[in-house]
Amino acid sequence: MLTTGPRGTRDILPEASGHWQYIEDSARKVCHTYGYSEIRTPIFEHTDLFLRGIGETTDIVEKEMYTFTDRGNRSVTLRPENTAAVVRSFLEHKLYAGPQPVKLFYLGPMFRYDRPQAGRYRQFHQFGIEAIGAVGPTIDAEVIALAVQFLRQLGLSDLTLYINSVGCPQCRPVYRTELQGFLTDKLSHLCGDCQSRFDRNPMRILDCKNSSCTVHTQGAPQIADCLCDECGSHFIRLKTLLTAAHIEFILNPRLVRGLDYYTKTAFEIQYAPLGAQSAVCGGGRYDGLIAECGGQATPGIGFAIGMERVLLALEKQGLLPKSTTDIDIFIAPLGEHAQATAFRLLCQLRQSGLAADMDFMNRSLKAQMKYANKIHATYVLVLGGNELEQQSAKLKQMETGEQIAIPLDDRCEEAFDNIAISHVFQNTLQEEA
Ligand SMILES: [Zn+2]
Ligand SMILES: [Zn+2]
Repeated sequence: MLTTGPRGTRDILPEASGHWQYIEDSARKVCHTYGYSEIRTPIFEHTDLFLRGIGETTDIVEKEMYTFTDRGNRSVTLRPENTAAVVRSFLEHKLYAGPQPVKLFYLGPMFRYDRPQAGRYRQFHQFGIEAIGAVGPTIDAEVIALAVQFLRQLGLSDLTLYINSVGCPQCRPVYRTELQGFLTDKLSHLCGDCQSRFDRNPMRILDCKNSSCTVHTQGAPQIADCLCDECGSHFIRLKTLLTAAHIEFILNPRLVRGLDYYTKTAFEIQYAPLGAQSAVCGGGRYDGLIAECGGQATPGIGFAIGMERVLLALEKQGLLPKSTTDIDIFIAPLGEHAQATAFRLLCQLRQSGLAADMDFMNRSLKAQMKYANKIHATYVLVLGGNELEQQSAKLKQMETGEQIAIPLDDRCEEAFDNIAISHVFQNTLQEEA
């Protein structure tokens, strides 16, 4: 127990954390270019927020939440997703009183008590955005464009964008009745989950992956045929906007959202090479959510991207950058006396902005050189008795073998500054190449 993490969790070790930082940096960059600012909400909220904000009849709320009573006897829940929390924060801090729309993004862990399987964890991570306050389809197109750009800029091609409209509280009941009429005599062929969805959430039946359910829902009525004028024109305008921006999409009438507060646009981005876990991004409009959470009726739209799946996709395609923990200078002291000088130099190097390290294990020179190689040190500075006596040491460039004399007295600072400058210069050149 003590040496194994809880089921469904995993550690992100140093060799992998650079990959996470890379994806997170990419998310922050693309959000910046679209005018979205980061919001950080707590990882736990009042349980009631999720009961209202996600819906009591959803799988998440019924089966998957980490809910507990704290020492003050309040029921709190680890966030299973973040839209409800962002809406709560939007209302609590009166962000509706500022400039509109309010464009936010978040990055962080979510928690669901799900059956762990490949690429699926009980603590998982999402990158998501929420655009609150704008009613028209232009913002829908922007939200979709941001998701597509983020995934494409990471190098993923083979992405498929599916869109649908789920209507609104005016037109959806009409569709619901029509769908229930169609399903009535097929009910016995559907899976248990779908049978229980028939009354409270029949649209979710279209979303079921069970093969018998997919077969028996072939030819089901499509919501597109039931949309009211407003929902219909919203959807047409969205399609026009996406086409104008050269964002390809496929209409998917089976793409539904079960809850009443979801309205109009629903979308999903799939990355086929991931197989059963191919959905990397899911999003949609939720014009009813803010009122559901106790605010004035306010439109909103957002998406969430599963970071684990994106990472898996990048790994599969060999698109992850190599580790970036390389050290600029490694100092190899020989003997206790040299260690003090080494440590003084080490501090100076680090203050001038170089990534520097030294031996802490009292290793032999040979072992220290081996270690310096292992940590990809660009330079090594050997400090032995001779060097201390002469107040000068040789800085060896590992790749070329080239050596530079470094004075160990007051002038060393200047020497290090020069290395720092040339080092920064080199990095810039490498980046430009
Ligand atoms: Zn409608
Ligand atoms: Zn089913």
